[in-house]
Amino acid sequence: MELWQEELQQCVRTLDQLERFVAIENRDEMKRVLANMRLSITPHTLKLIDFANMADPLLLMAVPQAKELSITPEEMADPIGDDAKSPVPFLTHRYPDRVLVYATFSCSHYCRFCFRREKTGAASPGPSTYDMDIIEAYLVAHPEVDEVILTGGDPLTLLDAQIEDWLVRLRRVPTVARIRFHTRVPVNLPSRITDNLVEILRRYQDATHPIFIVTHFNHAREIATENVEAIAKLVDAGIVVRNQSVLLRGINDDAATLTQLFKTLTNIRVVPYYLHQLDLARGTNHFRVPIAEGIDLMRQLQGTVTGIAIPRYMLDLPGGKGKVPLSHPFVRQTQVSPPHREEGSGVVDANGLDWTADSPFGETVQYVEPT
Ligand SMILES: *Cc1c(COP(=O)(O)O)cnc(C)c1O
Ligand code: SF4
Repeated sequence: MELWQEELQQCVRTLDQLERFVAIENRDEMKRVLANMRLSITPHTLKLIDFANMADPLLLMAVPQAKELSITPEEMADPIGDDAKSPVPFLTHRYPDRVLVYATFSCSHYCRFCFRREKTGAASPGPSTYDMDIIEAYLVAHPEVDEVILTGGDPLTLLDAQIEDWLVRLRRVPTVARIRFHTRVPVNLPSRITDNLVEILRRYQDATHPIFIVTHFNHAREIATENVEAIAKLVDAGIVVRNQSVLLRGINDDAATLTQLFKTLTNIRVVPYYLHQLDLARGTNHFRVPIAEGIDLMRQLQGTVTGIAIPRYMLDLPGGKGKVPLSHPFVRQTQVSPPHREEGSGVVDANGLDWTADSPFGETVQYVEPT
């Protein structure tokens, strides 16, 4: 058995095991919490959690709380409409050029804020060989799909042979150029990034058929030596690694913490891709940061943090309506009346429209476009 498989067996999965690290006040309540979403904390993450501090960001992300039993009326079982756009089992086709494929519903470690918490860790087995045939046929019938995102659950918890099976099948479809893995393994189970796995990934990419790994760090303290080494192996093999974070109350909801996270990622050659507004999954309201606050946090980073470290802040609309970026409206079209000509700087639009901008340093700037 490989080290990562041994580590999977050593995860904290029961209340009795958890009690060795934290006091459990109300066992009945906690049992109900775990009935909604199971518990697993990997040995790697256990090592990084500061159990002396009940407000430790890494603890809050991993240790279940009774607050998960409070569900607001706005929260939903399927918050981003994965099921609404599923033409065949284990596949969501929402955008014309790319599909999500759920390779498994298991994860090595369960995040208490998981947006897919109603499915992850459920007893449901992943796709069978028969389901994989149907997915392959769907891709052949839909040549407009040039990207497949293997997600879950966590696809990198599958065995090497299963991962290779997916890669063989996807590379058999000539119209699929890009393969993406969405995984939290580099965060919670870095030992999974074995030389053999990296070699498999390398074998199924070439100069025009890349493999992307999109991982999920939410706090700079999740980036320990083992994580840095796992990322380095992937990047050195020519795999592009990007990161999606989720904006979480008490974990990364201040400009200094976000700055440190995004810069540390950039320094280990991970591209900060998205910062997600937390989806309206049931029992996650204690983690939710208001959108207005998130927009203001990202405004604070503009100009003060190197551009290569700034992700886009995204809102996934309910009902499968799609993702849209959230941003402070730095530049606004404004009415100037009466229309006037400025010496040497062009004219305002014939309708008297002009642009007004907020500079990154808090100044208000007029921008006159040449006509
Ligand atoms: C989020 C998502 C994607 C990926 O979107 P990107 O903006 O390309 O990262 C693809 N399909 C579905 C259904 C999604 O929810
Ligand atoms: S790794 Fe992803 S799918 Fe798994 S529990 Fe965490 S957020 Fe959910």
